[in-house]
Amino acid sequence: MLLLCTFLLPAQETFLHCGKLVDTKNGKVLSEKTIVISGGEIKAVYNGFVQPDNKESIIVDLRQKTVLPGLIDLHVHLESETSPQSYVTRYTANEADVAFSSAVYAKRTLLAGFTTVRDLGGSGVNISLRNAINAGKVIGPRIFTAGKSIATTGGHADPSNGNKRLEMGDPGPKEGVINSPEEARKAVRQRYKEGADVIKITATGGVLSVAKSGKNPQFFIDEIEAITQTAKDYGMLVAAHAHGDEGMQRAIKGGVKTIEHGTFMSDATMELMKQYDAFYVPTISAGKFVADKAEVDGYYPEIVAPKAREVGPQIQGTFAKAFKKGVNIAFGTDAGVFPHGENAKEFRYMVEAGMPAMKAIQSATITNSLLLGMENEVGQLAVGFIADIIAVDENPVVNIKTLENVTFVMKNGTIYKQ
Ligand SMILES: [Zn+2]
Repeated sequence: MLLLCTFLLPAQETFLHCGKLVDTKNGKVLSEKTIVISGGEIKAVYNGFVQPDNKESIIVDLRQKTVLPGLIDLHVHLESETSPQSYVTRYTANEADVAFSSAVYAKRTLLAGFTTVRDLGGSGVNISLRNAINAGKVIGPRIFTAGKSIATTGGHADPSNGNKRLEMGDPGPKEGVINSPEEARKAVRQRYKEGADVIKITATGGVLSVAKSGKNPQFFIDEIEAITQTAKDYGMLVAAHAHGDEGMQRAIKGGVKTIEHGTFMSDATMELMKQYDAFYVPTISAGKFVADKAEVDGYYPEIVAPKAREVGPQIQGTFAKAFKKGVNIAFGTDAGVFPHGENAKEFRYMVEAGMPAMKAIQSATITNSLLLGMENEVGQLAVGFIADIIAVDENPVVNIKTLENVTFVMKNGTIYKQ
């Protein structure tokens, strides 16, 4: 009976009256449009402000706003957030503690206008978080997650890094640590088994790990190839954290699709990126944040601060050069290394470095949807696309900083902020 009644009711539709609308596909800002949403999907986009022909439908007045597709961040870590205590809490926090915190970060990320994110590494709680969000139990963005990152012994994502020797143990593929092509295959299959959507490797040293080098290569190319070939069998792309040039080159030649940070990328590597159709995810925000905090006494351990000073300030310059050279740019921030919800600052840094505002917006919508295999579902305000829609007060092509203050958020047709 209930089912029948539901069936007979006219479908409730939402009409968004948009003062301006960003057409990400064509790189244009259009005026006075109506988006009609039903069942979580965009059903129509009309010229002018169209009124519904029934009482059940609702109108949302965004006539003073600029409306965009929900933003996509390809590099976040929803399990954690920067703090001087984070080197202690990794020993004191239980999985449940991590889970409760991650729910807070997820909600903050969504309300900042990021309706889809790629989580590039945590303990595996990020997989449960994705599932809880998909099930409607927790409010947050749509998540594509790597689960646990894959490293080599002592490498940037070795979970026992920095422990006293008695506590180091000997983590293996199950824990995301490999030392041969065989172990590499097993580690990828383990991630698949646990429910990962994408594979993340730490191709070079990193800034925040308790280890000396932030840029040494940490995988051999046969290990990287074993990872990318195995990942391909499961339909997963591979993302590589990389600061140093040699590690980056091995990653690109080994079949990695996205290079994260790319700090010391040489001209030759930029050419290699183009040759292999790889994408650069700059994370300028993280670089700036760690460089600032390195000057705060005690914020990072002694071994980390010099790396933060060296790596942090380089990224924006590398990005400027790579963009000018025509390297594919995808949008990603490394949120978690800086406070969640501040993801949109990345736009301002990209524009500062010479990227036109519209291109920066397209990197976070069109380009990122492609890398997630969702190019026909998200990243555009067009008929048939999922209703992931945000609004800001000003035209972001004129003032890019307006993206840092998102005033309306809809995901899957549900309004979360208005
Ligand atoms: Zn990261």
